Amino acid sequence: MNKLKIALQKAGRLHEESINLLNACGFKLSLDLKQLKVSTFNLDVFLLRDDDIPGFVQKGIADVGIVGKNVILEQEMDFLIRDNLGFGYCKLSFAVPKESLYKSVKDLSGKCIATSHPKILDKFLKEHNIKSSIHKISGSVEIAPNIGIADAICDLVSSGRTLDSNNLKEIETIFSSEAVFICQPKYDILVDNLFFRIRAVKRARDNNYLLFNAPNKNLDKIIYYLHKLCQILHIRPIADSAWTYVKVIVPAFIIWNILDELKKNSAKDLVVLPIKKFV
Ligand code: ATP
Ligand code: ZN
Repeated sequence: MNKLKIALQKAGRLHEESINLLNACGFKLSLDLKQLKVSTFNLDVFLLRDDDIPGFVQKGIADVGIVGKNVILEQEMDFLIRDNLGFGYCKLSFAVPKESLYKSVKDLSGKCIATSHPKILDKFLKEHNIKSSIHKISGSVEIAPNIGIADAICDLVSSGRTLDSNNLKEIETIFSSEAVFICQPKYDILVDNLFFRIRAVKRARDNNYLLFNAPNKNLDKIIYYLHKLCQILHIRPIADSAWTYVKVIVPAFIIWNILDELKKNSAKDLVVLPIKKFV
């Protein structure tokens, strides 16, 4: 049987979530993978530095990979991106020393900017007609202004804690990044099957299952409200009562707004459940 070959980050910010996603898709990978290549009966896993993942997929050594969108854009391999994966969120942003007077990137004209994403930065500066010099660093970009090798940085930011502890403030964002699923534009049935599973897992993670009883007097209003936001699965009047049982699938990010609205309309017995797979 042909095995699917997949490239994942060996260690670092995307490693654990990548493994969790594959396990949710039915593979059985353990978390303490130490080797560079691990094989199960239906999968060959290459554990790499994230920067090497696009090249492995582009050359066909791996069929698919999971990597940050920022890495793909920096290596100009956007044609490999199939889907966003909903983790590894960060922004590529400009930051300057807290006490500096630079308010926007335009103020960095003629200055030196340190980054580990020189191609993206160069493109951005050209598009905005800003002439700054670029100092390429591969790690710990945030120390560059403190040690006097740059006036500003262009770096990945998530919580902002690293910037803060290095006495830096964010002034502008180039783009938002997250982990992406990559493969060649033309892919075979094995890749298609994994892609199908990933979409089912993602859809399940993005949604919740909500059950409740609605008072009949407010039922029309409640259904009208829910109709715009969720997928209604079931509406069943409860015999000899003033209540109706309702089942819906709700986008997870608005669940609290929906619960608030349902409570306002006197719904009761509200139960929210996670979904495991949603096809
Ligand atoms: P490697 O050893 O694999 O080269 P790395 O140091 O380049 O690792 P990590 O720091 O593990 O990479 O980050 C991997 C990816 O995680 C980044 O490319 C980015 O997509 C994402 N990410 C999310 N939040 C952050 C953050 N605060 N800083 C850096 N990367 C982040
Ligand atoms: Zn890297």
